[in-house]
Amino acid sequence: MDEPSIRATLAGLTAPDGVPLLAPDEVADVVIEGDWLAVVLGREGASREFLARVHRHLTQAFPDAAVEVRADSRVYRGGAGFGEGRHVVAVLGGKGGVGKSTLAVNLALTLSAMGVSVGLLDGDLNAPDIPHLLGVHPKEPPRGAGLQMMTAKVMPPSERQRPQERFGVEVMSVGFLVPERFPPVISSRMLVSTLLRSLIFEVAWTADVILIDAPPGTGEELQVMAGELPLSGAVFVTTPQDLAQMDAERTLALLTEHEVPVIGMVENMASLTCPHCQEEIDMFAQSTRLADAGVRVLGRIPFDVQLSVAADRGRPLVLADPRGPIAYEFARIGSVVRRWLAERDGA
Ligand code: ADP
Repeated sequence: MDEPSIRATLAGLTAPDGVPLLAPDEVADVVIEGDWLAVVLGREGASREFLARVHRHLTQAFPDAAVEVRADSRVYRGGAGFGEGRHVVAVLGGKGGVGKSTLAVNLALTLSAMGVSVGLLDGDLNAPDIPHLLGVHPKEPPRGAGLQMMTAKVMPPSERQRPQERFGVEVMSVGFLVPERFPPVISSRMLVSTLLRSLIFEVAWTADVILIDAPPGTGEELQVMAGELPLSGAVFVTTPQDLAQMDAERTLALLTEHEVPVIGMVENMASLTCPHCQEEIDMFAQSTRLADAGVRVLGRIPFDVQLSVAADRGRPLVLADPRGPIAYEFARIGSVVRRWLAERDGA
């Protein structure tokens, strides 16, 4: 496998009438490292289907190669999502403070305990909380390329930054690239896009399922995630409050626009058990907006002080109390998510 043989193979990709699908000068770059190969197409607006077609053609010619096909901001690595049998799933809130980061962390650990190899990406560029919730505070400056990763260059696997690892989960956060006390103010669409794509594509993830803890709202980060990252699906976290579900509805519209499927929603802080009389108290009036839009409920997590206390200690509740009722509810949610992803692989 070398550049001339790759270019020759690409020249052989033709329409049924024999017309080549790629002009030689449309192959902007070919990067090879061992049995890894990236082809960069200089074609604007290439569809995912087109990249998948180029990918199929290369994989047929070089069956042992791990192939990436890139064009514009798109990267295709095979399979239904992030590669063969691999997925990126966004955990979205719509509204801030509904418990999205807390749930993303506990869901990641639950899937990991089920034997899934999991990564967790902090996608909230302006308020990266995941390192704190997992108690990961790397003292050393990031290994590998660090901030240089925000360049347009295609990085071969050996140069990619390795994620941190905590409790068996791979973890990556913009918080590892900039000191905790200096929250970055990242606003330009270009920068957000480059940074998020780098955190997904230029990091040496080995995980099969990467959960992204997304920021609230429908701002730049959400636009980039829905439009440019290979999301297999999304999990909503909301409280039952109408206001929270109203914000989530806007996020849902954005996902629909970009054809990102919704796996379901987790209702957080729906109820509270009275510590004195053990009676269940509803925390919010029940909104049906998301359910009316066809989003199914994956599970309900009650308000429980243990969740926030465990979070502040950097030891999430599903680890601190693995046999408790909340860990059990997470296990139910985790198995639905896992089954949903497996079905997508089979589709
Ligand atoms: P978001 O990521 O949506 O902004 P967080 O996960 O940071 O929300 O949660 C907001 C606050 O609520 C945190 O202090 C967290 O510990 C707390 N919290 C989240 N879910 C629960 C819950 N089910 N019970 C008790 N506290 C919770």
